[in-house]
Amino acid sequence: MIIVPKTRGFICTTAHPDGCAAHVQEQIDHVRSRPQPGNMPKNVLVVGASTGYGLASRIVPAFSGGASTLGVFFEKPPTERKTASAGWYNSAALEAAARADGLYARSINGDAFSGEIKRRAIREISASMGPIDCVVYSLASPRRTDPQSGEVYRSCLKPIGQTYTQKNINTDKAEVDEVTIESASDEEIAGTVKVMGGEDWELWIDALLEAGVLADGATSVAYSYIGPELTWPIYKEGTIGRAKIHLEESCARIRGKLESTGGRAFVSVNKAVVTQASSAIPVVPLYISILFKKMKEEGLHEDCIEQIQRMFADHLDNGTQLDDAGRIRLDDREMREDIQAHVAGVWQQITSGNLRELSDFEGYRKNFLKLFGFGLAGVDYDAESDPLRSVDLVE
Ligand code: NAD
Repeated sequence: MIIVPKTRGFICTTAHPDGCAAHVQEQIDHVRSRPQPGNMPKNVLVVGASTGYGLASRIVPAFSGGASTLGVFFEKPPTERKTASAGWYNSAALEAAARADGLYARSINGDAFSGEIKRRAIREISASMGPIDCVVYSLASPRRTDPQSGEVYRSCLKPIGQTYTQKNINTDKAEVDEVTIESASDEEIAGTVKVMGGEDWELWIDALLEAGVLADGATSVAYSYIGPELTWPIYKEGTIGRAKIHLEESCARIRGKLESTGGRAFVSVNKAVVTQASSAIPVVPLYISILFKKMKEEGLHEDCIEQIQRMFADHLDNGTQLDDAGRIRLDDREMREDIQAHVAGVWQQITSGNLRELSDFEGYRKNFLKLFGFGLAGVDYDAESDPLRSVDLVE
């Protein structure tokens, strides 16, 4: 079939298999162009491994360190008439490239929050991989079924204790408008913490420890975001910020559990990038469009792969510089004073009329389409493409 993007707001319901493969290849090429870090993990589990930061966290150890990788994700497989979700095609491409290099790379497609998927991962690790020395936890999900009670919790992106009105971008119309979001209820706050906090990360570590499949000295990392003050009501001080506080508390507990064998646990605060998760957050796409223009002008622009390459090479390799709260800061370039001062100034002036002049909205759009495999060089989008691509699934 001829596959074209079908987008509405922050959703694209199609994905291009060859384009996704080209996108994965770009990331592999980046990793190969960098010096190989000395102390790379050899057996890596990535939870949330198919897109965004999790995909990059699988690519770096595999193609920079020759690691075996097991990826867990929740993606839609293709049919003869309908494309798969992008993460499926990304994973198919990653596995094919890993196989070509003689590397182990298999995947589990299912609900990472469930006990069954954790048990499946442990069975596979015991049977085929040997002890895991690095666990990256990179889930972004709108809901979670509690594995004990069966209750379904939902996450939301809302301010707490205030109504938040801010500039926003209508990405379909390329217009700057305004969004007003009412304060979250207590139930919504608790739901977001349950879904996006650290409870499930800790359950994964507990299950791996109990099964004896974590190597001595293993490292685990989960990701967070802080960002500029203008987004704090919807991010850092909102429902998702509460979940990230919980993630940090979980990190401290996990560190305590791993320390006796020389293991480590970190929260890494990453830069704002265009992913399926971040494009759903109000206000953030406009901020990213302004930020990207300035960071590109300054030669500081990074996407997921550059950030995660830096994390493995500069932070997880031989000790790491942490901030006062004990976190890895990959957002150092985004948060530089001059960059933030520039963004704050542009934020005051930006309107629909000067959007393209003052921001990199075109870059944002291209980046968004690329998540689904569209707009990549060397891909013939007019040609028929077979939507069926296989992933080596652990059942
Ligand atoms: P993403 O949407 O690109 O990826 C989410 C991943 O989670 C996918 O692999 C998806 O398949 C998987 N997933 C979702 N629900 C699942 C489930 N129930 N079971 C198994 N897998 C499931 O997200 P992202 O933006 O890369 O975010 C990953 C982490 O990075 C999040 O913690 C996010 O807060 C953090 N982060 C993101 C940004 C950003 O700008 N995007 C910045 C800093 C930190």
